[in-house]
Amino acid sequence: MKVLQISQRKGSDEIASTTADVSLSDAAAKLSELRIGCLLVLNADGGIAGILSERDIVRTLGVSGADCLKQPVSSVMTSNVVTCGPEDSADSVLSRMTSGRFRHMPVTEGSKIVGLISIGDVVKARIEALEHDNEALESMIRSATA
Ligand code: AMP
Repeated sequence: MKVLQISQRKGSDEIASTTADVSLSDAAAKLSELRIGCLLVLNADGGIAGILSERDIVRTLGVSGADCLKQPVSSVMTSNVVTCGPEDSADSVLSRMTSGRFRHMPVTEGSKIVGLISIGDVVKARIEALEHDNEALESMIRSATA
């Protein structure tokens, strides 16, 4: 299974994003409103400046207290973002997420951002594919033994 199939299953949801100058408080409000765990941080050209996860906010809250919510996204985001391409395999993405200890990955084609997938999207797609294979095998066995 390829990343392309996973992002197609997800549909054409707009990629949730913010900018580096937005406060952590506003970024947290957006995460809460959209019921998601991660925002892509875009620069003025629409390119990737970083990624901000709910974990980044909680970690900073734990260290600095509630005052940190006034800080800009740029102060806690991860700038070195690992991306994947539509033709990458789901297994390779899962393995990169697991070894990198993160649960989100932007999908890019050249300099264009075409999606943002989570480890949950990958696992859901893999389970559905396994269920499909299982049903096909059961049907083959049933017709062979009928
Ligand atoms: P997550 O598990 O995705 O909520 O994020 C855990 C940590 O990894 C946070 O510090 C994120 O900023 C960072 N992170 C999330 N996704 C990526 C990514 N694709 N590349 C690099 N770092 C990431």
